[in-house]
Amino acid sequence: MKNVLSNKILAWYDNHQRDLPWRRYRGFQDRIYKVLVSEFMLQQTQVKTVIPFFNKFLKAFPNLKKLSKAKLEKVYKLWQGLGYYSRAKNLLNTAKLAQSKYKGKLPADFETLKSFPGIGDYTASAIMAIAFNKDFIGIDGNVERLVARLFGYKNNKKNFKNSIFLKLQEIKSQNKFSEFAQALMEIGALICSPKNPKCNVCPLNKNCISFKRKDFDYKIFNKKKVNIKKYYLLYASENNKILFFKNKKKLLQDFANLPLIDYKKDLFDMNFKKNRLHFEGEPKIIGRNFVHNISNIKMLIKIVLFKRIVKINDNQFYWINYNKIDSSLLSSFSKKFIELVKTKKIKYV
Ligand code: SF4
Repeated sequence: MKNVLSNKILAWYDNHQRDLPWRRYRGFQDRIYKVLVSEFMLQQTQVKTVIPFFNKFLKAFPNLKKLSKAKLEKVYKLWQGLGYYSRAKNLLNTAKLAQSKYKGKLPADFETLKSFPGIGDYTASAIMAIAFNKDFIGIDGNVERLVARLFGYKNNKKNFKNSIFLKLQEIKSQNKFSEFAQALMEIGALICSPKNPKCNVCPLNKNCISFKRKDFDYKIFNKKKVNIKKYYLLYASENNKILFFKNKKKLLQDFANLPLIDYKKDLFDMNFKKNRLHFEGEPKIIGRNFVHNISNIKMLIKIVLFKRIVKINDNQFYWINYNKIDSSLLSSFSKKFIELVKTKKIKYV
């Protein structure tokens, strides 16, 4: 059975794998570098979103050496729109570490890889399998779903993750580790999709327990709780400039942020009676919410429009000219909001 399954999986991959830019490489080191960059970009982000960012990134930094010499700001700039900027910082630091300590090469060793910034169990396994063709499999959500359905496992069992891992050891290919790992991810992503799996074209349908039972729910619990957080976004635009805010929070301090303050606090007492901003007239609170999702946090943002700012008494506030906005490093919610303003989906300018 184990060979039957791995043969089916590999044969399907041979005929159906997508032509993705990180699967095109010139030489071994090029392959390792492309796998590294793609694995960082694919954390939390879908393939189709990643492709244009990957291409732009590779154009600017075609190899590990070039990347290791890059400025963080430039890396952030190319990452802008992908979100989760800590990945960009970690990728840059990984390239620097490989350059300074490992002669510019990523080591083919699982434990050593895990000592690099931003590389945990999953990413190290994926790099070991995909780049180095070593006996590893990165178990991402796609692989977990595929194996769980194939063998009829439910995640209410205590040993769910371990069962998936052990089953994979049973059915894996004995030498084509790279192709096998990618094939599983590909079938999980393209065929055994979370909703409406395409079982009629699945190479494993004759062996699949979920298909036989017509029961595709393997997640009994474990749904990530969505945290709702409410904010006010202070929007002031005058003389071709928009008001921004230098955030002191570590994650946001490298970026230009539209001023965002906690909804719970009393907006006017906490922020304005202390004379941080002097403004004309009463700010207008727009009724509907601007929604921005980060991981499992749903940000509900009410927009507060200012007619005219008379004086700023706080050096965390500053203006950016309209014509400098595109070249500024905006935080993801600020970029999203500005895009909506620019495309006139929100008419606040
Ligand atoms: S037959 Fe359907 S449920 Fe089973 S692995 Fe294939 S796509 Fe998934």
